[in-house]
Amino acid sequence: MNKNCYLDHASTAPIYPDVVQEMVLYSNELKGNPSSLHEEGRKAKRILEQARRCVAELLGVIPEQIVFCSGATEANNAVLWQSVLATDWNNKRVALSSIEHDASINTCRFLEERFGVETDLIEVESNGRLNMESYRNALAENPSLVSVMTVNNEVGVVQDIVRIAEMAKEAGARFHTDAVQALPYLEVDFSPSMDFMSLSGHKIHGPKGVGVLLLRSRADFVSLLHGGGQEGGKRAGTEDIAAIAGFAKALEINETNKKMRYFALQELKRHAMHRLYSTFPDIKMLTDAKHSVPGILAFAFPNLKNEKVLTMLDMHGICASGGSACHAGSMQTSHVLQAMNVEEAYSNGLVRISFSDENKKEEIDHMIEVLQKLNHKR
Ligand code: PLP
Repeated sequence: MNKNCYLDHASTAPIYPDVVQEMVLYSNELKGNPSSLHEEGRKAKRILEQARRCVAELLGVIPEQIVFCSGATEANNAVLWQSVLATDWNNKRVALSSIEHDASINTCRFLEERFGVETDLIEVESNGRLNMESYRNALAENPSLVSVMTVNNEVGVVQDIVRIAEMAKEAGARFHTDAVQALPYLEVDFSPSMDFMSLSGHKIHGPKGVGVLLLRSRADFVSLLHGGGQEGGKRAGTEDIAAIAGFAKALEINETNKKMRYFALQELKRHAMHRLYSTFPDIKMLTDAKHSVPGILAFAFPNLKNEKVLTMLDMHGICASGGSACHAGSMQTSHVLQAMNVEEAYSNGLVRISFSDENKKEEIDHMIEVLQKLNHKR
């Protein structure tokens, strides 16, 4: 049995060799800055715009709606900062789900403390789905912006995102979704009721440090970064053409494989759930089987900190995660589990495994064997 089991694709998915090849090609071939007017600059610009058209076509949007940036942290920041930067918004009120990624939650906390942005956290049900009563109450406060992630990164729960976006629109709010964890598994739909969407390259086996912010309209969007007029004045800074071309390539592969991968991962997840339940009767599944993506499975053992489990798995060559990769090293209680009202016995125990189509059932079985060793010691 291969002892190196990578079960942490939701943290980052290893880059596809074809993506690397594309990136090496452009790194070697392109000398110019896409903003330069000479031939080498124009050549770089052509590749940039080619990548933009490719990404647009794959996402079903128009090229003008795409802003390339450094990833979803930046994209989420750029959107939430609009509450301070935009001049034509009615108020500085933002409603976001209580299980958003730190890139959103912590940005809102910061904007609240420094700039008086009022933040309403929308409650979720015990399975992580948005609590509709809490959502209606938040909308009644007349927010300028609503932000709800399509798929949660810690437990994999999928929201009814188009309906949620439509409700925001009906209430007169702009709508943003962080669709980072949806892109590897689901058809992402930048539906007309959405104003902003964040996507990241490294969750689809693309390069790290590159992502896309989709804008419904460029007209009233104020750039977070100022400098040159790159990205049509919506994100200053010289574009990393190799990374952007790599993103386009990864997206192309992702979209081609998505359907087949969905069923393969679903089968893997079913196997993992079955093995976990039948081996450990006191385990708690934190991922709702019905409303979740196939690649993410989170669970916890009673009164057992995830740190212990993850260390044991790591010692046996298994890479898993305690939820968000951003929390690594500071094993605090997950705000997602708190929002889901998970019983205290399990609240520090979140272990997340996340798959790609390279994973095999044998790797799950290996993980079960290792967990059994730990179980004997409890
Ligand atoms: N949003 C979600 C849901 C994520 O899972 C992540 C990555 O962990 C991010 C945002 C941040 O993305 P990036 O690493 O591209 O900044």
